[in-house]
Amino acid sequence: MMASVPQLKFTSKDSIPGIVNGVRSIFHTHKTKPLEFRLVQLRKLYWGMIDNQDALAAACKQDLGKGHFEAYLGELDFCTQTILYCCNNLEKWAKDETAKDIPLANKLLFPKIRKDPLGCVLIIGPYNFPVNLLICPFAGAIAAGNTAVLKPSENAPNVAVVIQKVIEENLDSSCYKVVQGAVPETTALLEQKWDKIFYTGGVTVGTIIAKKAAETLTPVTLELGGRNPAIITKNADIRLAARRLLWGKIVNAGQVCISQNYTLVDKEVLDQFVAETKTAMKEYYPNGTRNTEDFGRIINDRQWQRLKKMMDESKGKILMGGEMDESDKYIEPTMILIDSQTDSLLADESFGPLMPILPVNNLDEAIRIANEVHDTPLGLYPFGNKKETDRCLREIRSGGASVNDAWMHGALVTMPFGGIGDSGQGNYRGQASFDCFTHRRSIISTPSWLEGMLNARYPPYDGKLAKMRSMGQAKPNFDRDGKVSFSLVSYVLSLGAGSKTGGLIRYALVLLAALGLRQYLG
Ligand code: NAD
Repeated sequence: MMASVPQLKFTSKDSIPGIVNGVRSIFHTHKTKPLEFRLVQLRKLYWGMIDNQDALAAACKQDLGKGHFEAYLGELDFCTQTILYCCNNLEKWAKDETAKDIPLANKLLFPKIRKDPLGCVLIIGPYNFPVNLLICPFAGAIAAGNTAVLKPSENAPNVAVVIQKVIEENLDSSCYKVVQGAVPETTALLEQKWDKIFYTGGVTVGTIIAKKAAETLTPVTLELGGRNPAIITKNADIRLAARRLLWGKIVNAGQVCISQNYTLVDKEVLDQFVAETKTAMKEYYPNGTRNTEDFGRIINDRQWQRLKKMMDESKGKILMGGEMDESDKYIEPTMILIDSQTDSLLADESFGPLMPILPVNNLDEAIRIANEVHDTPLGLYPFGNKKETDRCLREIRSGGASVNDAWMHGALVTMPFGGIGDSGQGNYRGQASFDCFTHRRSIISTPSWLEGMLNARYPPYDGKLAKMRSMGQAKPNFDRDGKVSFSLVSYVLSLGAGSKTGGLIRYALVLLAALGLRQYLG
């Protein structure tokens, strides 16, 4: 039975500056900085999520037709695992780091990196994973010691209501706030001064956010979309490719930013790939996708219409599926054979269960097309032998990649995740979530007893340059053509670098060389 969720109420625009000022001034009281405070908030968030998991799962069902399995694995467990990972590692992440590669002479300054919170941050979420993509960055922001305002997607209104309840009933309400609303409310939020904006959503709005942030030099993390290619060579395991890529498009009814937007298939294996996809479809859904809890719906009428238009404008031929029902926002997983990279199904991100297939003559052609369609996609999915998949990784850029799989790299709770170019900037998840909301502050502490040595830095400079330059300045090991020049001394010193045994070997060699030299010199 579905739990009843109160209706989403938008926050009044007039109240937004006051809300943000409150959260900003609380940051300056240093309340969120002690590790114990952060840990308690993360633990409370964990229990808030657990206590409301049924309500959240029900809201996912109402908003996206998301079934129990997908809601628990992709939304709730993902969040609770993320929070636990933050709790278990926070002390280690937050510790001061000794600065690396400091010349000997400067070690006496005790250089270290402190992990400071950025301050007061804004997190704006999308509709497709409305719990996961809001709560996971939020966990990073809490762990790093920030105060935060969350703006859930108004397009997943039932989830937005439960998220607000979880946060208001469990966390310190002076430090963390939820603002509800659509474009006017988000615009009002963007008018405020932030120390970081974390945005997940489409490229168009991402651009609006980046421009607004640039006015106040506010740093942003942008998690955007992409026209992600899958590539199948004639050497791929075709059954495996069909099963995995079909999975990539049925989860959340294809509304996954990293799912493949199109598949480039070697002509030699095209028929086999189509047949295997149909077989996999029957295995996954013996009774079809219409009346099963295991297949979701498109979020709203606007998105359903957008997908229908893409289909209507396509010159492709439907090979599998094709059923659409507006009243239920249903779109059957649909495989379409297209004959051009300019087809409407490739021109834009589909973000739905559409699977355009474009046959290619060979891997050269596949790589060329992938780079022409979108040269900085969010994900890349090459299927083939190792040489071929390595070549795809080398010659096609992407935010992340799964070799011989659909978007599995994005399902790892602790692995950094993010885009490149117009599929996004910055990344999060695992320790990257902490780092994303942290300022790495370089600090030295100069002892007073060092003053005698520091004398060389003060005027008058006459005669002091050589002394200053002799203190730890590196010398090149390459000539003017960029070739590494051979030096016996540096060769000997580099032997076994990095290991203890290596150090001993180097020591012994230097000793032998010195003894030999002494003997030679008599
Ligand atoms: P959406 O409609 O839920 O919008 C996202 C957020 O932007 C919402 O909170 C919304 O209120 C806000 N917004 C909308 N218009 C705005 C405006 N003019 N000014 C300020 N804020 C505004 O989600 P969407 O963008 O339609 O989501 C789909 C897109 O998100 C797809 O392109 C998908 O690839 C991308 N996405 C990316 C990731 C990722 O991690 N990289 C994850 C999920 C979705």
